[in-house]
Amino acid sequence: MSLFDSFRDPELCKGLLHHLKQECDGLKFMEVCGTHTVSIFQSGLHSLLPENITHLTGPGCPVCVTHDAEVDAYLRVAAKDNVILATFGDLMRVPGPGGLNLKTAQAEGARIKVVYSPFDALQLAQDNPGDTVVFIGVGFETTAPTIAATVKTARQRGLDNFKVLSFHKLVPPALRVLLDDPDMNIEAFILPGHVSAVIGLPPYDFLPLEYNLPAVVGGFEPSDILQSLLMLVRMKNEGKPDVVNQYTRVVADEGNPTAMAIMDEVFAPADAMWRGIGKIPGSGLVFSEAYRDFDALQALGLELNDVQPIKGCMCGEVLKGKLRPNQCPLFRKACTPAKPVGPCMVSTEGSCAAYYKYSTD
Ligand code: SF4
Repeated sequence: MSLFDSFRDPELCKGLLHHLKQECDGLKFMEVCGTHTVSIFQSGLHSLLPENITHLTGPGCPVCVTHDAEVDAYLRVAAKDNVILATFGDLMRVPGPGGLNLKTAQAEGARIKVVYSPFDALQLAQDNPGDTVVFIGVGFETTAPTIAATVKTARQRGLDNFKVLSFHKLVPPALRVLLDDPDMNIEAFILPGHVSAVIGLPPYDFLPLEYNLPAVVGGFEPSDILQSLLMLVRMKNEGKPDVVNQYTRVVADEGNPTAMAIMDEVFAPADAMWRGIGKIPGSGLVFSEAYRDFDALQALGLELNDVQPIKGCMCGEVLKGKLRPNQCPLFRKACTPAKPVGPCMVSTEGSCAAYYKYSTD
């Protein structure tokens, strides 16, 4: 029996579901993590939850929230001479303007390398001193500290041909935007476990304090998710909203001070563009003054252009939880994982891909 089996125990899950059915008199919750999205669909919880619990998937997939203007920018970087673009593999098929993506750019001769870690990109810079190696930094607070550590290592090694496109996103400011949208009526959040392992619970304090809303940092196994929901229901029933940590086996309430310190040294908060949402104040990371020479946009003299969203794709509305994937007219028709129209169908953590794979709706 593996460690995870105990968190997937059917009897435990049935018991938690029973309590949920008994105690919940209605809950509209959102999760903001691609791993939660996939887990809820993969485990069948999506169809097992009581009918009066509404599950919304939010902007929790890092590939999906990367804005069209950012996709356009890294495609322009890939087209430059003497540049090697290093990226995580999940960005390769994300469609950009005109349907171009990194895979097609690679086929046309662009020097694009898929890496498994930003340190692999650093090695590329070391091995190719005549080229500029640009790493595409996407993701949330989870990935930013590792990229910051890579930048510090580049500085220590004197590798000035290593640059980063910092397209990182910060989760708490996005939650505020979603809550300020009068159409949403979100009643509770399951908060992302991985992000929270870095930032801890304090950045979410505004949820109960300013919005009177309960929130639980939840793990990813079925019993974690059900227990998180039960915690939310009980806080709602008691009228005592709070930020609670269900995922204590991984997340410390105070987060990871070492990771936060390195992130704060290398980066500074700035406004950022989110797919479907637009500009969110303070929701991105730019290089701090001391590390600005690693900024790929500045080094290559590039700016983000005005770019039109992908025609017909409703990813923006899906990411805000306003539309279920199967309400997009292209779902399962023009848009499938084999031939994705938008990033929510490309990424394995995307809502459309999860819905396609695990839901019969
Ligand atoms: Fe975009 Fe495809 Fe999802 Fe529609 S089904 S929102 S086109 S990714």
